[in-house]
Amino acid sequence: MANSKGKFLLCYHDFSIDSAQIVFSNIQKIKSFTGKSFPVLVVPNTSNASSLKISEFSSMLKELENDNFELLLHGCTHHANLTQKRTLYGRFALSLTQNEAEFAGLSEKDSLESLNQAYQYWQNLDLKPPVGFVAPTWHANPFLKKQVLKKNIIFEERLKIISPTGKSIYSPVVSFAGIPSLTLPLAFAYGNLIMGSKIGVPRLALHPVDFPKLESKIFALIEKTIKLKKTVFYRDLF
Ligand SMILES: [Zn+2]
Repeated sequence: MANSKGKFLLCYHDFSIDSAQIVFSNIQKIKSFTGKSFPVLVVPNTSNASSLKISEFSSMLKELENDNFELLLHGCTHHANLTQKRTLYGRFALSLTQNEAEFAGLSEKDSLESLNQAYQYWQNLDLKPPVGFVAPTWHANPFLKKQVLKKNIIFEERLKIISPTGKSIYSPVVSFAGIPSLTLPLAFAYGNLIMGSKIGVPRLALHPVDFPKLESKIFALIEKTIKLKKTVFYRDLF
């Protein structure tokens, strides 16, 4: 394991064609707060979108690319295709995630097909190759890691980040998406603990639903963490 003391990842999840406008402004706000670009996880699906909308989506992503943001592939559609067969674990993961866990429990063939479809959408957006792949909600299947690493990019699990050559870094995640209001104070206490921890490279995974509701609390957490650690990109981890 690399010496990872003093680093953290600040990542923004779920940049999709439907959320692009609002997410883009959130991202700019965070950048002006921290003064630095950071990794953004992109849902590449452009099916059913007009060519105008696709070109706007592509332009925003290219603007991020040019501004030194790091783009990762975040699933294919971020919504499970319910006609695909899944293991019991897969069906359970869907029930926990409002069907967002699109790769959970898929067969080897379906997993590869969805991954290749995600790549196809990505190519249509005319971007540089993604730095890594993160399955929506981190629920996967036994084949996905190998399929992703074969594309020579980073694979992220809930608690680990894995390089294309198979090296892994422990990375606990702090996320507030889907957490009931009542338990949010607890989630922020946990967030403070994890982001301050010296073990591994903790990740702060921000989502569109966090804004504007949790914005001030999240900025306070970022401010505190930045005093202890420096932000890094996935590409610099290995
Ligand atoms: Zn997501």
